[in-house]
Amino acid sequence: MAQYETHTPAELPELIRHYIDGEFVDSADGTTFDVINPVTNETYIQASAGQKEDVDRAVQVAKRTFQEGSWSQALPRERSKVLHRIADLVETRGDRLAELESFDTGLPITQALGQARRAAENFRFFADLIVAIADDTYKVPGRQINYVNRKPIGVAGLITPWNTPFMLESWKLGPALATGNSVVLKPAEFTPLSAGLWAGIFEEAGLPRGVFNLVNGIGEEAGDALVKHPEVPLISFTGESSTGQLIFANSAPYLKGLSMELGGKSPAIVFADADLEAAINATIFGVFSLNGERCTAGSRILVERSIYDEFVERYAAQAKRVKVGLPHEPTTEVGALVHPEHFEKVMSYVEKGKSEGRLVAGGDRPEGYETGNFITPTVFADVAPDASIFQEEIFGPVVAITPFDTEDEALELANNTKYGLAAYVWTNDLKRSHNFAQAVEAGMVWLNSNNVRDLRTPFGGVKASGLGHEGGYRSIDFYTDQQAIHINLGEVHNPVFGKAD
Ligand code: NAD
Repeated sequence: MAQYETHTPAELPELIRHYIDGEFVDSADGTTFDVINPVTNETYIQASAGQKEDVDRAVQVAKRTFQEGSWSQALPRERSKVLHRIADLVETRGDRLAELESFDTGLPITQALGQARRAAENFRFFADLIVAIADDTYKVPGRQINYVNRKPIGVAGLITPWNTPFMLESWKLGPALATGNSVVLKPAEFTPLSAGLWAGIFEEAGLPRGVFNLVNGIGEEAGDALVKHPEVPLISFTGESSTGQLIFANSAPYLKGLSMELGGKSPAIVFADADLEAAINATIFGVFSLNGERCTAGSRILVERSIYDEFVERYAAQAKRVKVGLPHEPTTEVGALVHPEHFEKVMSYVEKGKSEGRLVAGGDRPEGYETGNFITPTVFADVAPDASIFQEEIFGPVVAITPFDTEDEALELANNTKYGLAAYVWTNDLKRSHNFAQAVEAGMVWLNSNNVRDLRTPFGGVKASGLGHEGGYRSIDFYTDQQAIHINLGEVHNPVFGKAD
């Protein structure tokens, strides 16, 4: 038995089931898998384990609804109204949503609430965008008018990770639905609980039945079947880089449209002229929020040597004050990692780190938390660039700090991993900040700021961190086909072959 009084949300379903054609259903062969409470590591529920047959059923329903056209051909204003209602419902149900999410993932409740608000905002954003979109028209005076006919593609396969499940699902569902596609969502198997809420929300908001379908299951089974389904032309995937590589290969025979948001090992670079207090607060938050299970975590901090010792000392002291606790407690800043397998992975890096760097904070279980996936915020200083904790994504509350002497060296260190998702630059030198930001190999850069998103900007990584960018109208581009239509306005303009004499 676990030692904790865990908070179990009321009215949990008996089984987490698929949602296909407007109904909750079991897997055709009845198989299920265990879902674990990260605070106790006890199985708290079973979820239906979707197989090829279940995925095929969901795809056929999605395809049929797409062809029927009640959603795919609806006016943008009609779709926009439904999306706004979805956003309203997500907002109204924010507390419940956050409660389920925090329970299932181990994320602190206050941060789960923030993610619920972001999920609503994602829908509102695409509800607004879809009625404001302008497509290109080109005129060739006296000869042609050519225009872009943007149309939804068909069945979009959405495969999502466990770190902020509901929010990341909204990130894909919003634009996929706004543009008129039908969808099959495959949520992460560690955290399938909150995805079921979409069914009720969509139904109440007026999304036609069969447009949204959900198949739970293991990646190698349900996810794989979705990727290899010939009638799913689009796959939007967020997850690990190695899974992304496999999905890329498995999609190749079908030439699918792919969007990949993958792993990261993002640097935060702190120059001596930076506002040190702000930089410390931001870099603490940047790696310890969301339990460090954050793709854009600033998990490598590069600090100019003249302020290095002071930075490390202050940073370690503050990291020790970060409050680890039960996920449902409002004062908790770091909760429980999602799953014992992930906990073991993070702990194995902590052990490696002890010989690769100088441990200045954390490195063990917090006192009083002898079971469950709890770890103290862990800080290693003096980490060499070839160390595994500098190079590899840990995806937990663990940070590596490394000194640098010159701007060139800082840039070289920043770019010295296979990843390229985000970078955070702290300096008050205007020229340097822009030049550094433009040279760093990262899809997204923040100057003197934490990760504060503007939903209009592109989101995505370079190198092993991703393929393609979503966000704003780039998401609209991914989920639509831009057909070029050419209209002749003048003489028919071509040489005549086979002309009569
Ligand atoms: P993961 O790759 O293990 O799993 C992600 C999803 O893919 C899950 O739903 C899983 O079931 C499915 N999957 C696994 N194998 C599959 C296969 N062979 N075919 C089809 N689907 C398959 O990732 P995770 O551990 O759930 O998530 C953590 C990772 O996600 C980290 O690397 C993190 O950086 C990344 N991430 C990236 C972003 C971003 O926007 N760049 C955002 C959040 C998380």
